[in-house]
Amino acid sequence: MLHALVAVLVGLAICQLANLVTTVFLHRALSHRALTLSPGITFAFRVVTWLSTGIRPRQWVAVHRKHHAFTDVEGDPHSPVILGYAKVQLGNVGLYRKAAKDEAVVARYARDLPADRWDRVLFDHALIGLGIGTALLWLILGWQWALLAGGVHMASYLGLSASVNAIGHTWGRRRYDNPARNNQWLAWLTAGEGLHNNHHAAPTFARLAHMAREIDPGWWLVRLLVGRGWASVRHEEAKLKVPSAA
Ligand SMILES: [Zn+2]
Ligand SMILES: [Zn+2]
Repeated sequence: MLHALVAVLVGLAICQLANLVTTVFLHRALSHRALTLSPGITFAFRVVTWLSTGIRPRQWVAVHRKHHAFTDVEGDPHSPVILGYAKVQLGNVGLYRKAAKDEAVVARYARDLPADRWDRVLFDHALIGLGIGTALLWLILGWQWALLAGGVHMASYLGLSASVNAIGHTWGRRRYDNPARNNQWLAWLTAGEGLHNNHHAAPTFARLAHMAREIDPGWWLVRLLVGRGWASVRHEEAKLKVPSAA
């Protein structure tokens, strides 16, 4: 029983690590250039992304930039307004894969992120990354608990990523005049991504919390990296696309 509890907690911890890497590296740094990371931190994030998600960064970036270009209109890869909430919440992985595999989408929206030698040798091979990640868990926990921890991580990571796209465009507060929504409870679970209305209002701002009462856990990591001299942010204040607050 204790082993099972430990395995579940390890799975949830890995999910939070993956959420931090997703929001700070894939989203804020690569997709929007809201912050710039040092080469060492960039490489560390590439490794953690590979081991914990199997995501190819340039594909994630391309799909996400397309979402910003066509937010909740025809062409959005994962809009609950177009497709319905359930189809995005439950089918987000398939919607992502469909857009990510479209070479024209990647060529158009991630032309600043061409594959380098590390991608060709390691990071473009998702199954090897996930296999090594699982093997590390296996060494630490033993195979049955490694499977449980890996399963908890995978289910929670995929479920929460889908929630940002589905809930984040369906329910919650709209401070700014854009279709996305703010949900602080979701932001707690997704390293800040639940403050999605704020993000669509100021995509190049590295902090997703705009008010004192809002909490963006991903920002804590950004601040730590900036404090160490390993990152710098693009704007000190939110640069709003539409300068109005509801
Ligand atoms: Zn969005
Ligand atoms: Zn974004």
